[in-house]
Parts: sequence; C-alpha cells; structure tokens
Amino acid sequence: MRTLIDARLRDEARRFELRFTCVDCVHFAEQQRACANAYPTEPHLDVDLARHASLEFCKEFELV
Ligand code: SF4
Repeated sequence: MRTLIDARLRDEARRFELRFTCVDCVHFAEQQRACANAYPTEPHLDVDLARHASLEFCKEFELV
C-alpha cells in the first residue's frame, strides 16, 4: 500500500516510534539483507521519512 508522507505522518511516526521497514520485520534475513519470503525490499528498506515523499507499506510486515 502506497501512502503520501506528510508532516502529520512524520510527526506521528516520531511520537509513536512507528516501525514499518524491513529491518523491523520478522521476515527480514539480516545477514543476506533480504526478505526471507523473497519479496523485493527496496520499497521498504531504509526508508527515510524526512527525505521521501511517499512510502510503500508491505502487507507481509510483521513486527519482530
Ligand atoms: S515481508 Fe515485507 S517488510 Fe518483511 S522483510 Fe519481506 S519485504 Fe520486508
């Protein structure tokens, strides 16, 4: 799911310490820096809310 990154999202992500990137997902294989389910990680890995205008959430994300 793609969503726009605006000031509200940036503020809420900071205040609530939201986690949504691959590094915080149980399916992320840290050593390979890859998804164990073989999904592309580019849209979800190392997302910087301060620099990006949109964000693509992964529907398979599960918090570690
Ligand atoms: S399931 Fe999605 S969020 Fe989790 S590691 Fe794979 S691509 Fe990243």
